[in-house]
Amino acid sequence: MSAQMAFAFVFLRLYAKSMLRWDDPISYIHSLSSYDRKMLKSLDAADIGELLNLIPRRYDDYSNLAKIADIPLNEPVTIKAKIDEIKQAPTFRRRFTLIRAKVSDASGSIGVTWFNQPWLLKQLKAGDEIFISGAVTMRPRFGKGFTSPLWEPADAETVAAGNIAPVYPLTGNVKQKNLRRIIRQALSELEPPEDWLDENIRRQTELPDLASAYRHIHAPESLGQTEQGRRRLAFDELLSYQLALRTARQEADAAGAPQVAFDENFAKKFTASLPFELTVDQKKAVWSAVQDMLTARPMRRLLQGDVGSGKTVVAAMLAALVHRSGQSAAIMAPTDILAKQHAQTLRRLLAPHHIPLVLLTSSARLAYQNGDERKLTPSEAREVLAQGRTVAVGTHALLVRGSAPPDLALAVIDEQHRFGVAQRETLVVDAREDGKVPHLLSMTATPIPRSLTLTMLGDLDVSIIRTKPIGRAKITTKVCVGDTGRQYAYDLIQEQVSLGRQAFIVCPLIDQSDKLGVKSVEEEVLRLRKGPLKDLKIGMVHGRLSNAEKDEAMGDFAGGATHVLVATTVVEVGVDVPNATVMLIEGAERFGLAQLHQLRGRVGRSSHESFCLLAASEDAGVADRLFVLERTDDGFKVAEEDLKIRGAGNILGLQQSGAPLFKAARPDDLELMAMAREISQEIVRTDPDLHQHPKIKQRIDGLRQTSHRE
Ligand code: ADP
Ligand code: MG
Repeated sequence: MSAQMAFAFVFLRLYAKSMLRWDDPISYIHSLSSYDRKMLKSLDAADIGELLNLIPRRYDDYSNLAKIADIPLNEPVTIKAKIDEIKQAPTFRRRFTLIRAKVSDASGSIGVTWFNQPWLLKQLKAGDEIFISGAVTMRPRFGKGFTSPLWEPADAETVAAGNIAPVYPLTGNVKQKNLRRIIRQALSELEPPEDWLDENIRRQTELPDLASAYRHIHAPESLGQTEQGRRRLAFDELLSYQLALRTARQEADAAGAPQVAFDENFAKKFTASLPFELTVDQKKAVWSAVQDMLTARPMRRLLQGDVGSGKTVVAAMLAALVHRSGQSAAIMAPTDILAKQHAQTLRRLLAPHHIPLVLLTSSARLAYQNGDERKLTPSEAREVLAQGRTVAVGTHALLVRGSAPPDLALAVIDEQHRFGVAQRETLVVDAREDGKVPHLLSMTATPIPRSLTLTMLGDLDVSIIRTKPIGRAKITTKVCVGDTGRQYAYDLIQEQVSLGRQAFIVCPLIDQSDKLGVKSVEEEVLRLRKGPLKDLKIGMVHGRLSNAEKDEAMGDFAGGATHVLVATTVVEVGVDVPNATVMLIEGAERFGLAQLHQLRGRVGRSSHESFCLLAASEDAGVADRLFVLERTDDGFKVAEEDLKIRGAGNILGLQQSGAPLFKAARPDDLELMAMAREISQEIVRTDPDLHQHPKIKQRIDGLRQTSHRE
């Protein structure tokens, strides 16, 4: 090596060292003030990578400012204006503040009002220049103007930050403009990140390389660029997710599943012992799963069936067949209440065949044998499971390695939307000590549109129960708007109770801090007891009650001792009280359609006519989408609508699954999803161990470890 080259080499190393790496701590960014450092502590990002993965919520386009004189009505605009005056205006309502301002630019002036933001008087004063973003409307009292628009000081920094300014989701006391500056700084000091996707894939997808994508996201030159950048990051998320599922699936296939022999005579005896005839769809679902379990390839089957379509008996029959083959089955529900209810159902269905059953939840350990119920100590429960050849019912704690039966051949997970898809896979894959992978049946009442099953669930096999058992009464759904609507609902509840029926009332959480719904439920019960339903016996269930208290409340309601049960959405899944004919949902506009449809399924479980009442506020437009539920009781149609309105994340339970896997991807990225599917298939087909794709392998391994830790 010549001296010159050596010098150049050392120089380069030094230079490179001074550049930021992807996993450097945020504090390595040069020229941070001590204020910046303090502020960054409250940011939800530890290293540079996480900082740059803060995806803006939207962008303010300061490159295309409107003139006050030409602002169209009802269209989003941004203006730059000077504050001529700003003051608090009197109002006649208590605890209600109104700030009014007049702002102007060279072309004219316009009014601005802000409701309930008294602190603005400290932040803004006459003479300040600000950007205002929002829509101008015609307001009944104040005339043409902005109402509670977003604003931003038009100081040098905002302007210097470029014409299109990202608006980040903020946490703690982070300030928008400081964060913008710091992210730009980080970007300029960053050693361009290595792209985990090769040239070939990038060409195929026509997406920008990773370094450009981050520039497009955080320092865009046009709005078009921002979308290009977002799409690239979204594709990365979707592709990683699908690759993780696919490689997990592949490993499961390689490990192999325990085979479950089919005893046709026993199957006939079992169906003959049922109190009803299985519907055609139920039979088909059982048959497909039986076929799957005959082989050593782990079954991954999704059983979709609307609420009340009769999924439990399918699970029960499969569990019985597994027991017959000499192995164990586990049926898991998302909550203790539901697990107990399943245990009661299964107990009845399995008793004629002398199949023992154990129930294991955080509050109960019970063994059922030939109709008897016996309490178990923790060590007895462990023993029962360790012996094998048992049917266990419980929550997903059942699957934790070391507690699952050693011969677990079938895991059934009910109401799968409460678990993340990847989470479920990792749970099941690791359940057995001997490395074999149990068959998995997930059951959901949330119908998942076909486009999504294909693209997002890997290659799950799907069984659908479309036809409901015959003899079900109709459920009439009504959107009840405002006080008149609510009065109608109370009258109907009174009437139904006088006919001997019962009612659920579900209330939304009042505020963020009320996670368990204590306040929401207690306040509602007080209100109802004082006024609208004061002659009725009202019970309640919320998250802070002990398990014994919950059981008591549910028991009172199921036994008819209370007329009305006020609850949070804990009653959403599975609870079966056939005598309940009214489901009143308060604040219905705050729920997704699929969730409302689930709640609706709590009634209509007997031959009595039932009602689902959706109480919504009178505010313009909020109740509009609810009318879908008046028009249809087909869960698939509801799910399609929900997909349009709220997104795939909600349907697939991705948002509930701990770490948000999807930050950039959006529900309507169907084309990106399809592309990710094709490419992930291709990669896994040609390079199953990802040996030729070391960077991809590294990323997927990381992702799978994360979902493991959840
Ligand atoms: P879900 O699919 O919502 O879990 P369930 O399994 O709880 O529904 O079934 C709802 C009700 O329908 C139960 O009371 C069950 O006994 C009953 N049921 C299930 N299958 C049939 C059938 N084929 N005929 C009549 N009733 C049925
Ligand atoms: Mg169910």
